[in-house]
Amino acid sequence: MARAGRVRGRSSADDRTRIRVGNAGHALFPQGREDEDPKMAQPIAVTQSVRRPAGAGEGLSEVSTQEMYREILSRLGEDPSRDGLLTTPARVEKSMAFLTKGYDEDPTRILRGAMFDVDYDEMVIVKDIEMFSLCEHHMLPFFGKVHVAYIPKGKVIGLSKIPRLVEVFARRLQVQERLTRQIADAIQAAIAPQGVGVVVEARHLCMMMRGIEKQHSSTVTSAMVGCFRQKETRSEFLSLLRQPATGGL
Ligand code: ZN
Repeated sequence: MARAGRVRGRSSADDRTRIRVGNAGHALFPQGREDEDPKMAQPIAVTQSVRRPAGAGEGLSEVSTQEMYREILSRLGEDPSRDGLLTTPARVEKSMAFLTKGYDEDPTRILRGAMFDVDYDEMVIVKDIEMFSLCEHHMLPFFGKVHVAYIPKGKVIGLSKIPRLVEVFARRLQVQERLTRQIADAIQAAIAPQGVGVVVEARHLCMMMRGIEKQHSSTVTSAMVGCFRQKETRSEFLSLLRQPATGGL
């Protein structure tokens, strides 16, 4: 934990999300904030589940998930009855359930019971949290690192719960901007800190595999809430992210 340039006040109502696309390692630390796009400001419900009853309204409620995957295989031009594919529908069903298990998890419940009263008002930062998610447009993976920081106001969250929180939102169909925003909003809602900053750097297979983006570029999104919207605090956060982990860290 490092000392923070503490800046008080600022409501969380004026927060918004920024997005930058470019080469990894450069886009993460944009100069200034003039490039912020107000169109990215989209408040999003944190805990609402989108999981619906199987086959709702589609007349497919009698068809099992595995049968549907078998049908998809044959529509792709495959023979679902050949050896290598026999148990593929079962495996896909299982792996998709795992990759979207975040719908069944409640971030509020995860954070509850892991919040502690403290007399500490310096920046808390958790860097390099591994993240794997699925883009909701193509259902292909995007993956990378999440960096989370906040400045407490009387309460902190147990450090191990921050990666858990990332996991809850990442294990759903996502867009990177919303994932970033949901992590920030959940922390803000749980402990009402002075502010929260979240930066996500990720590579999207839907872009890489289809040749839309160069192989080594990554997309960087950030959400700054409360005092992290002030230049001093945000700069401190970003400069802490830049520091390589060394020695005792
Ligand atoms: Zn996509």
